[in-house]
This record gives sequence, C-alpha cells and structure tokens, in this order.
Amino acid sequence: MFLILVPGAIISYLSLRSIQEKADNQKVIYLGTVNLVRDKLESEIFQREANFRNSIIDSVASHHTQADLQKLLQSSDSLYPAFKQLLLIGNTGELMAGLLTLGVHRASNPGQKINPQLSRAISESEKSEFLDKDYSGAIDSYRKAFDDARSPGERAVLHARIGRNYYKLGQYENGIGAYEKILDLETGSCTIGQVPARVVALHQISEGYQALGAFEDRESTLLELCRQLLEHPWDLSGGEYLFYLRSTLAAISDPGPLDTLNILKKEIPGTMKQRAARIMEEAKFLQLMHGSILEQLSSDLQHPSSSEIMYSSFPSEPGPAIQLNFFLFPAAAESAHLKALAFQFDEENLLQEIFPKALSEVELGKDVTVGILNEKDSLLYIQNDFLPAGYLVTVNFTRFSDSWKVALFDTRGKSLEQLAGREKNFYLGLFIGILAVMLMGIVILARAVVHESEISRMKSEFVSNVTHELKTPLALIRMFGETLESGIVKEEGKRQEFYSIIHKESERLTHLINNVLDFSRIDAGNREYSFEKTDLVPIIRNSLEAYKFHIRDRGFIIENKLPEHAMPVSMDKDAISQAFLNLLSNAVKYSEDQKYIQVEIRREKQSVLISVTDHGIGIPKNEVKKIFDKFYRIPRSGAKQIRGSGLGLTLTRHIIEAHKGSIEVESEPGKGSRFTLRLPVQEN
Ligand code: ADP
Repeated sequence: MFLILVPGAIISYLSLRSIQEKADNQKVIYLGTVNLVRDKLESEIFQREANFRNSIIDSVASHHTQADLQKLLQSSDSLYPAFKQLLLIGNTGELMAGLLTLGVHRASNPGQKINPQLSRAISESEKSEFLDKDYSGAIDSYRKAFDDARSPGERAVLHARIGRNYYKLGQYENGIGAYEKILDLETGSCTIGQVPARVVALHQISEGYQALGAFEDRESTLLELCRQLLEHPWDLSGGEYLFYLRSTLAAISDPGPLDTLNILKKEIPGTMKQRAARIMEEAKFLQLMHGSILEQLSSDLQHPSSSEIMYSSFPSEPGPAIQLNFFLFPAAAESAHLKALAFQFDEENLLQEIFPKALSEVELGKDVTVGILNEKDSLLYIQNDFLPAGYLVTVNFTRFSDSWKVALFDTRGKSLEQLAGREKNFYLGLFIGILAVMLMGIVILARAVVHESEISRMKSEFVSNVTHELKTPLALIRMFGETLESGIVKEEGKRQEFYSIIHKESERLTHLINNVLDFSRIDAGNREYSFEKTDLVPIIRNSLEAYKFHIRDRGFIIENKLPEHAMPVSMDKDAISQAFLNLLSNAVKYSEDQKYIQVEIRREKQSVLISVTDHGIGIPKNEVKKIFDKFYRIPRSGAKQIRGSGLGLTLTRHIIEAHKGSIEVESEPGKGSRFTLRLPVQEN
C-alpha cells in the first residue's frame, strides 16, 4: 500500500511545485512585458515634453510683453494638448497664466502718476467735498481742475469725482452722465486706484441705475461691465479684480426689488459664462500656487537638477494632491524676468489620445491587454474596451506620475493566482482522484481477502458436512446388507423392509453425490443440460414418491396439490427433479415440531410454479439473499446442529436459471418458508 501511496504523493508534490514554478516564471514574463509597456508610454511622454520644452524656450526669447507671453501660453496650451495649466514663474515669484497673472503689475506697472498741478487742484476740491460737505461747490471745483488735466487718465479721475458728488447730492442722472464721460475717453489702460477706469465707471453707472430704479439699464450696464472684466482682467494681487468679477456676476443674477414691474432678466451669454468659469478656475489655481506650493516650488528651484523636467506633487486639501511639473529657463530667458515654466498633464488627453496611440504600436499577443490604474486601483483606461476582473501584474510609472500604474490583464479575465490556481486545482483533483481509486482498490482487495478466507472456511466445513452426509447412508446400507447376508432375518416382511431401506439410502446417496458432482461441474462451468419438452407433473410426482416413505417415516404429513392435466416444460428432467428434491429435503431438515409440508404445481400466466411450503424455523430477512451463495449456511446457535453442504440452493438456483426461470422465497422466522420455482410454459 505504501509502495503505491508514497510515490504517488511524491509525484503530486513535484508536479504542484513545478506548477508553482511555472506560475512564477509566467509572472516574471508578465512583469517584463508590463515594464516594456510602461517604458514605451513614458518615452512617448518624455518625447512630447522635450518638444514642448524646447519650443517654449525658443518662443519665450522672442516674446517680451506680458500680452505676448500670455498669447504664447494660450497657443501652446492648444498646440500641446497633453499639457495644461501652463504657468510662467517670474524671478520674484510672480505668476503668469494664459488669462490671469498674480503679482505681475508690481514689477511692470507701478501705477498711474497724476501731475503736481492737478494734484493740488484736486486737494483743494477735496476740502469742499469732505470737510465742508459742499458737494455742489466740489463739483464746480473739480470742473475747474480740467484745465490742469493733461491725459485721458487724469480726466477720468476728475469725471469720477464729479459723478461721486452728484450721487452724494442724490442727482443720479447727472452722476451717470459724468461717469459716462469716462467711457467716451480713450482711457486704454488708465486706472483709478488699481482699477481700470472703465470698470469703475460702469460699476458706478449700474449703481446709479439701481438707485433710480432703472433696472433694465442697470442690467445692460452690468452685462457690459462683465464683458469688460472678462476680456480685460488685471492682476489678481490686491483682490480687486476678483471682487469686481464676483460682485458683477452676482448682481446680474440678482434681478432687483421684487415689486418692480417689467423686470427684464437678461441671461449671461454662454460664451461669457464659459470664460467666467475658466477665469475663476485659473484664479483658483493661481491663488493655490501662490500659497504653500509656490514656496515649495521655489525651494525646489534653488536646487534644480539641470535642465531636466522636474515632477512635484503638492498636497492640496481637501482635493487630491496637485501634480505640477516644471522646467527652468536657460539664463538668456531669465534675463527677461522668467525663471521657470510649470505645467500639468492633461489626463484626459493622455488617456484618450496618447496612450491608445502608443499602445497600438506595441505587439502584446492576444492573451493580454493593458490598462491604466489610479492610486486606488480603479481603472482609468483599458485597451480594447474589455471589462477586466483582476490584473495580472502592475508597475508604477517611474517619474511622470506618483499615482498611476500600468496594469496587465488577462483577456479571459483571470488573475495570475487564478491562472496558476486552475492548473494547481486540476492536479490536486487528479491526485485526490488517484488516491481515492487506490483506497477503493485496497478496500475491495481487503474484502476479497476476507471473502476468500470465509469461502475456504466454508469449504472445509463443507467437506466435513459432506463426509458425514455420506457416512450415514453408507453405514445404514452396510448394516442392513450385513444383517441380510448373515441370514438372521428369517421373516420375509422384515427382509423386504431392509431391502427397501438399502434402496432408499442408496438413492439418497446418489442424490447427495449428484449434488456434489453437479456443483463441481457448475463451478468449473461445464455442467450441461439436455432439454426436452416434457410434462412436469409426473417428474415431480415420481421424485415425491421416491422420498415419500422416508419423509413419512420421520413423522411428516405431505399434502400435494398436483394438477391432473399436463404441464409441458422444456427441461432437463434429472436437473429439475434434483432442484425440487433439494427444496423438499430442506423443508424436512429445517422443520421442527410442525411437520407439515405442502407441494403444489400451478399455472400462472406463461409460467409453471412449483412451490414447497414448510412450517419450520424460517429464514431471517437479512439472510434471504445469502442462502443462495455457495457453501453458505445460516449460522445456528443452539444444541441441535443440522447437517448440510451449503450447496443445495446454489445448485437449485443455477438449474432454474439455466431453464430461464427463477426462484422466489417467502419466509418468516418461526413460522415457515415457501420456496417457489418459476419455469416458462412450453406451449405447442
Ligand atoms: P444446506 O445443505 O445447508 O441445506 P442449502 O443451500 O440447501 O444448504 O441451504 C442453505 C441454507 O439456507 C441452509 O443452511 C439453511 O440455513 C437455509 N434454508 C434453506 N432452506 C430452508 C428452509 N426451508 N427453512 C429454513 N431455512 C432454510
């Protein structure tokens, strides 16, 4: 047993190990592939970055004004769709994006100067406005100051003050008129304080209309103001720009007092809305940059790693970390106050344009496909739109992103574990199967051994039984033979009785020997039958006659119910008689006090039934099947042992089955048994 089990276990262990090794090797191959893919994607990105960087550096050299640079940023943004949020960083930390700047005016536009003569005139007028609260006087005084104003900007300042005083007087129409004069001027980049003069004027006019209840006019003024703000943003530092933009946007969506009839609620046009959203977003980004991020960035910029592109990621609560990449300008560009350019990757463009294109150039084989995962392992992109279950292997990008990973998927949706596991399970199953078969074999073998030893035990019991069975009739024959020979018995009647005893005992002997011989023939497979169509009734009757006296001598009553008419059956006469006699002698042997036996032949459909019924000890249910086995005898406790060979029923069944019939048993322990032979009728 161990000779089978141990090698089996070793082979299974080895095959499981080799499967594991195979899985490991496969993993190495997958890792190689995914690294290759990652390198391909990164080189695609690096190449684009290099082009982008070179072209920006080249162009910056020829763009000097702020407007030019902003145009350059805007055009590069659309020229290089893989990059977004382009941001120029000045030497002193000023930021410049495509639409907005933060901190730039301090360097380039120091503010507007007013000539000294006008300054004096204005101070005079302010006295009457603020100290004397003589607003009409102030208006006259400001009017006079126009003589000293030399530029549209200076005139704009005076108009604004005149308008302000009219408002203070409650003369809004006049005030609006004064402010409208500003709009007619060639104000250009003129400012009042830090705010463009046009913006101040439009804002004030809208307030005037509000005071007058002219909501329609107010709204169109606000729209004009909004357009102005969106098209000409100024630097974010100081916060005035965002203040004006936010309050204007809010004012437009506020329709004014509810009791006003004829409210013309004007919508902001779509293009303006979009631009407003872009500006708001850019403003948010710049303000964010201006805080801690800029600080960190400038410390990074102190130790730049040569001309390479640097990748940094900045925490930005509550949103996800901001990844910002930047490169330094060479010294020549730095002289134009520019230190570096920062940018972000346009993730959508990477995932939808660049990666698919790069991947289409990689030959992967049909079993695997590539996907991009984010830091939470959720799928951002997958080749061929297929829905994967679990990835095989992943690898991080080396430089360009902290959070993204390249993943390899099996196209059948299997993970590495599943792929190896399936094979492993198959071999494990096979091993268990083999083990089960081996165990079954062992059990069968063990049972066969037990059975065989049982048979040999039964055989030896059989020999002793048969010997005894033979001895009894032989002893009787010899005894009566010798008695007759000695001539002691003179009485004719007695002599006749002795002869008949000798005759019957020799018949019993023949029957027994026939049984043993038949059995050995049947066991060897060469028992032959000579079938002929015969009436069954006389055969049974004769057999019964031969044993009648013997049975009656032992105190039995036999009732026979044999039919008068013929029952033709194709049969071997001797064999059938032998089968019947076996049943009859069992009925005698296994009866105790109730010595009553019934023999019956009857017809049932296409069968002839021969039944032998006794009122003897009966057969327990669980033994019924076994009594037909060769040598089998029901073990008996108790003093009275019944002799037998254990062959009778085996032979009987064999004979009946050779006649295409069957044998049935009904029995109840303590009540008796009925054995029935069923043979097919042979009609003409
Ligand atoms: P045996 O020579 O022992 O009678 P058989 O093959 O004829 O061998 O019968 C097998 C066993 O079946 C018997 O040992 C006996 O226990 C049981 N048996 C057979 N016939 C009867 C019967 N009429 N009543 C009770 N038990 C029977």
